[in-house]
Amino acid sequence: ERTDFVGYFHQVIDRFEMNTPEQITLIREIPKGKSLVWMDKDKMTQVLDNIISNAIKYSPDGGEIRMKLDIKRHYLLVSIEDQGMGIAYDKLEKIFERFYRADKARTRKLGGTGLGLAITKELVEAHHGKIWAKSKEGKGTTILFTLPLMSKKRRDIR
Ligand code: ATP
Ligand code: MG
Repeated sequence: ERTDFVGYFHQVIDRFEMNTPEQITLIREIPKGKSLVWMDKDKMTQVLDNIISNAIKYSPDGGEIRMKLDIKRHYLLVSIEDQGMGIAYDKLEKIFERFYRADKARTRKLGGTGLGLAITKELVEAHHGKIWAKSKEGKGTTILFTLPLMSKKRRDIR
């Protein structure tokens, strides 16, 4: 459905804020105003839930998670940056594969199936967006994805 992503993004983060352990700080960098996108809200919520819960899961105590929204001319750029253990450069693409879990021994105790990001990627692509990761081992990880903005035309019609 037609959604203002700015308001929606705040709502998602509000919900996480209520359930996030105190040792982790969520920081918002979200512009004011509105930006309309056409999206399936449940699916987008699954996308953000997966990315944000990874950020929390792989963050150290005292870590900050930066949630950023950039409004470009034709698309939105969402980025979720953590200060966790990071991911090796040669593994960055693999994390979007089904059942892939980096560093088995380390991540085993944190639990999970390795499906989260594979599903996330499919859902972002179903919205005509792209998703990728940047990381520095030992410093942190940023997951970024794009989402096309509604064209002027469609905004007027709906
Ligand atoms: P689940 O299916 O419960 O989400 P998962 O979190 O292990 O399990 P994915 O979310 O698909 O699976 O992530 C795949 C792997 O990518 C993880 O096992 C982890 O090794 C790595 N990873 C994902 N996000 C981060 C992050 N923010 N920091 C460090 N490593 C990460
Ligand atoms: Mg996960």
